[in-house]
Amino acid sequence: MKLVFATHNLNKLKEVKLLLPQTIELLSLTDIGCHDDIPETADTIEANAMLKVKYIKDNYGLDCFADDTGLEVQALNNRPGVYSARYGGANATAENNMDTLLKNMLSLENRSARFKTIIALSFNGDDVLFEGICEGSILQNKRGGKGFGYDPIFLPSGYAQTFAEMSLQKKSEIGHRGKAIRKLIAYFL
Ligand code: IMP
Repeated sequence: MKLVFATHNLNKLKEVKLLLPQTIELLSLTDIGCHDDIPETADTIEANAMLKVKYIKDNYGLDCFADDTGLEVQALNNRPGVYSARYGGANATAENNMDTLLKNMLSLENRSARFKTIIALSFNGDDVLFEGICEGSILQNKRGGKGFGYDPIFLPSGYAQTFAEMSLQKKSEIGHRGKAIRKLIAYFL
């Protein structure tokens, strides 16, 4: 079975490829010739994931899935959440986003946070959502050079390494995206 993963993010592609069984052939947006910047203009993670899927369905007529992820910080009323990608400004890099978050949390003792991934699937006319959550905390400083996004400042609960210090296998095993992807795989079993 061929399934499109509606992302341009190579890190996400790598994470997901690690988990999918060989029976599912993953096609990237590049594989289907889509180089568009798919709009992510909704104000919830769920709706943004659906927007991406609908864009591919409407423009390419293909079954596909998409992920949208947000970092929810308890002491910031779950911000940046759906605004995680542009927390440091309209064209913010991952460094800008992390610096903004660290600055906004300088005086905060409650460092609890969680990553939430929603995967939206459009398959055979059905739309389904799968959720994956990883609880953890935000460090005071960045640690590690692997991963992407907010990985260097996120310490998953029960682990001594940040997502940017652990292997991709480990991150997929315990992380938000891995949890959502395993629910997606179970849907096809
Ligand atoms: P999106 O799901 O690609 O829209 O990501 C929203 C924001 O969260 C971006 O700034 C990403 O870099 C960040 N992000 C998404 N997934 C992860 C992750 O697994 N680790 C760290 N940051 C992530």
